[in-house]
Amino acid sequence: MIKKHYKNVKTIKKNTQLMDYYFMGKYHFSPYMACEHGCIYCDGRAEKYYVEGDFEKDIVIRRNLPDLLAQKLPSYREKGTFLIGSGISDPYQPIEAEEGLMRACLSHLSETDFSVSIMTKSTLALRDLDLLDTINQRSRCLLMVSLVFPTDEYRQIFEPRASTVEARLEMIKQFKARGIPVCVLAMPLLPGISDDMASVNLLFDKLKALKVDVVMPGGLTLRPGKQKDYFLDTIESHFPELLSTYQKIYKGNYPSGSPENWYVGKTMPAIYEALTQREIPTFVPHYVYKNAYPKYDELFILLKHMKKLYQYRDVSIEPLKRADSAYRKWYTTHKAVFNRKRSMTQEALEQELWYALNDPLSSVLSGNPKLTNFMKNAVFDAGIFNYTTLKLE
Ligand code: SF4
Repeated sequence: MIKKHYKNVKTIKKNTQLMDYYFMGKYHFSPYMACEHGCIYCDGRAEKYYVEGDFEKDIVIRRNLPDLLAQKLPSYREKGTFLIGSGISDPYQPIEAEEGLMRACLSHLSETDFSVSIMTKSTLALRDLDLLDTINQRSRCLLMVSLVFPTDEYRQIFEPRASTVEARLEMIKQFKARGIPVCVLAMPLLPGISDDMASVNLLFDKLKALKVDVVMPGGLTLRPGKQKDYFLDTIESHFPELLSTYQKIYKGNYPSGSPENWYVGKTMPAIYEALTQREIPTFVPHYVYKNAYPKYDELFILLKHMKKLYQYRDVSIEPLKRADSAYRKWYTTHKAVFNRKRSMTQEALEQELWYALNDPLSSVLSGNPKLTNFMKNAVFDAGIFNYTTLKLE
């Protein structure tokens, strides 16, 4: 039986510092706290998140969120993506069918030029396809679906109340049919259960067939305390032969819940290689986020992604590292001024970046003229960097 706890929130989180180039949220909210889906591995069970009561049953409902959003939207000085949901609360968990907070929030966002990314394991997102389509056409919507099993066999044990694997794959198909980009969060891949290459290859083949735009793989973290104990109890009841393997992989009991390095080194390279072979990017590609952020944020994200992309191909990244470091200095200094000067606009800071990129004496990208021209095309003009061919198109 679900217990509802209605609360009002005062703020919507806003990232005014360095952009997170992985999930790329500039603004962030979750309509609910805790999660009915009850995934056995969920990080939200950890003490770190201070979820009170039963994680799967005591659901906090942030009732005033749509009104707060409507009130705040006109005051934001910078465009950017609203990242909705998190790894500890699904915005489309079943309670949303009754409460409708997501639909109300999306309705406000669909009247603006803000882009949206939604993290979910639920096909209830299909209910709002009309609004998400409008947002995608006006700015950009990215559906981020979490999927770690290629079939439903283990999903029933580990993600008991989330949508089935088949239903999630069908949802991806429907979003893609509307031209909405899809990112699959293939995390957490579970040691001995879904991290073997047969399972990973089967999942990636299905995702490739659906033409997903990006797949982000990741391993399991087990924070010492409630989360780890709960997960290992499930392993003991369903896969007792794997218990000692888990104890070895997580013997460090690190506060972050990270596995031992030897396990990461043994599994992750082959998983990334399987994605490279299928030409599936592991970062949100440039065509998805182009023009969704201020130019100075877009340049920051693109540089970070390029560094990683060339590194994976074993290409020397020394010039990129120098440029990234020089730009980080420019970016942090100028953003600090922007944050202090409330009268300054996004356009004014973009203009400063444009002047800096056109100044022959500027060191904004470590005085690298080839890269500077490239970035002017990619960020200020129509160029789009292709994450598969590594070419500007
Ligand atoms: S859907 Fe996400 S937030 Fe909800 S229980 Fe599962 S992992 Fe946690």
